Parts: sequence; C-alpha cells; structure tokens
Amino acid sequence: MSEDCIFCQIVAGDIPSRSVYEDDDAFAFLDANPMAPGHTLVVPKEHHETLADLPEDAGAAVFAALHRLTPVVEDAVDADASTVAFNNGEAAGQEVGHVHGHIIPRFDGDGGGPVHAVAGARPDLDDDELDAIADRIANAAD
Ligand code: 5GP
Ligand code: ZN
Repeated sequence: MSEDCIFCQIVAGDIPSRSVYEDDDAFAFLDANPMAPGHTLVVPKEHHETLADLPEDAGAAVFAALHRLTPVVEDAVDADASTVAFNNGEAAGQEVGHVHGHIIPRFDGDGGGPVHAVAGARPDLDDDELDAIADRIANAAD
C-alpha cells in the first residue's frame, strides 16, 4: 500500500467508494466523476503506477476483472457498447498514479469519440519507418 495513494486507500476501505467487485487481486468501484452512468474503474489491489510496473499475475487479474465486469456494467445501465481503456502514464492523461482500467458505457449518439481521437495528429510514416518500429517492438517483446 502506498500511503498517499487515493486508490490504495479506497481498496483498504479508508476512503469510501461505491465498490462493485472484489477478488484476491483486483477491486472495482464507480468513478466519482463519471463520464457516463456506470463508469467503473478496475484496479489491482497492490499499488503499481503504470502497466509497465504491473507484474504479469496482477495484470492478468485486472484483465479478468475487466472481462467479467464489462458486460455486467453495460447491462446495468442498458448501454449499447463501452470504451475500455487505460490512461497509462502522465503524458497520456493519467491523473491517479495507481494503474486503473476505465469501463465507460457508451450509447448510440452519445456524442463521444473512439479511442482514435485521443492522440494528436496522425504521424506520416513511410514503409521503412514502419518496418523499423515493428522490428523494435517484435524483438523487445520476444
Ligand atoms: P485517470 O485520469 O487517472 O485515468 O482517471 C482517474 C479517475 O479517477 C477519474 O476519472 C476520476 O474521476 C476518478 N477519481 C479520482 N479520485 C477519485 C476518488 O476519490 N474516488 C473515485 N471513486 N474516483 C476517483
Ligand atoms: Zn495505490
């Protein structure tokens, strides 16, 4: 537990939340400032700041909870779809430094955008640059 982390304090029950799910390694609760009805956050119980910091088993637990909860959340608010996403690091808009996945219910005509809208202008990359990037990722992921 990180003493000054609000999500650690929520997991510990020291800060109240509308909790909706808990297992050994993951915890989920309603976002206090929802983008849509049912907006839910899924966190690992252990404190880790970003996905890169998260051990594989904790990551698996978070994904399992997201997988279980996404259809349940959609049904609870009669949503047409959902956006499931992580703001992973400050430059991507992460404000709370404890990994959390957002489940944001979506509705036909809700005026929101797809995840394609979150980055800046699309880069102009030629084939060589795309090949080099793919190689770097593939080699590092091996
Ligand atoms: P981020 O920008 O870090 O991905 O999102 C943080 C989210 O946490 C925001 O959507 C914000 O509304 C939510 N949040 C921040 N503080 C609290 C809190 O104390 N309780 C709950 N339930 N949600 C919070
Ligand atoms: Zn924490």
